[in-house]
Amino acid sequence: MELVTAYNVTDIRKDFPILNQTVHGKPLVYFDNAATTQKPLPVIQALTEYYQGYNANIHRGIHTLAEKATAEYEGTREAARQFINAAQREEIIFTRGTTEGINLVAASFGRAFIKAGDEIIISTMEHHSNIVPWQMLCEETGAKLSVIPITDEGDIILEEYEKLLSEKTKMVALVYVSNSLGTINPVKQVIDLAHGYGARVLVDGAQATAHLDIDVQALDCDFYVFSSHKMYGPTGVGVLYGKKALLEAMPPYQGGGEMIKDVSFERTTYNELPYKFEAGTPNIADTVAFKAALQYVNNIGKAAIGEYEQELLAYGTEALSGIPGLRIIGQAREKISVISFRVEGIHHQDIGIILDTQGIAVRTGHHCTQPLMQRFGIPGTSRASFAMYNTKEEIDRLVQGLHKVRKMFA
Ligand code: PMP
Repeated sequence: MELVTAYNVTDIRKDFPILNQTVHGKPLVYFDNAATTQKPLPVIQALTEYYQGYNANIHRGIHTLAEKATAEYEGTREAARQFINAAQREEIIFTRGTTEGINLVAASFGRAFIKAGDEIIISTMEHHSNIVPWQMLCEETGAKLSVIPITDEGDIILEEYEKLLSEKTKMVALVYVSNSLGTINPVKQVIDLAHGYGARVLVDGAQATAHLDIDVQALDCDFYVFSSHKMYGPTGVGVLYGKKALLEAMPPYQGGGEMIKDVSFERTTYNELPYKFEAGTPNIADTVAFKAALQYVNNIGKAAIGEYEQELLAYGTEALSGIPGLRIIGQAREKISVISFRVEGIHHQDIGIILDTQGIAVRTGHHCTQPLMQRFGIPGTSRASFAMYNTKEEIDRLVQGLHKVRKMFA
């Protein structure tokens, strides 16, 4: 019989030393996980081990340290491939993060395949990182940007999306999970519909990859981007997945070392995938440590994490709904553990500052989704986002904190 380890949040919290501290004299409650997650000990140890044991530049070295660093770096590529079930390691390109991945595709795919009169579709709930690179491309090429509208609950309107699709559509770039609303978008349907018109689809997986099971082959997306730091890994590293045939057809993004095969002043030939898109010395240490984060998540299990976070979401949604004057922004059919809210008569910034004095970290503002805030006619929200190490007791602290905030403004 298979042994199933019960989800033990107390044990998990021991792996995250940063959580064990007081802020303004109160035990820290960290609810800013959609901005960045905290790092478990194996990730911190992997960073130290790299710098203490085998720091060396990768790929071209023949000495022992360089070979060890290269093997570890490439080991993360294999771990990332498995994590999202990509077919081949050549389809995993390391970037600085989601933002760079999208910029890479907009610049490289855009240069090769988008021209005046073509159309690019995004949605109302995109992060600025999945808006601005496409706007820049449209400005350069004369292509047109269209936007899928959303309901008041925060779901995209599929019928409206279908109306936007045509033979002119060359790219659909959609967020899998909204960082501001928590909405899980029906990306598989969106992808299949786009493919019906021969359009390519980029999925922004920044918020999805830590919470949902990701299978890029089952999704059949053309590009998938995500960041290590939102899934318990270090900052400064991310992944661009692309279908091999597409990546092969795309021109390099940046020129420099590593991305070349041969250079002469007359003519340069480019390296094979994935190195064609990895110019210059990469972020070796953080990439190596990212593998420890992937292993950490795998060890606990995505399904167990997802189930626990859904419990926190349900508990938090009910608890916050009981606070007079509090309105949750984002009540989509399917959500991850993000609760954005406004409290009548109180500015979100004041809420954030007062909660901080009680040791509670939430994010306030537009969350890099200004057009989405405009859609709801609000300047911003307060956002509590839960990760695998958060607890119901911490949600109770948030509720108490919000009652205090209301009293101060009564
Ligand atoms: N897309 C979404 C949905 C995000 O939440 C974020 C990070 N807030 C990004 C893109 C950008 O990610 P990064 O800053 O790691 O490049």
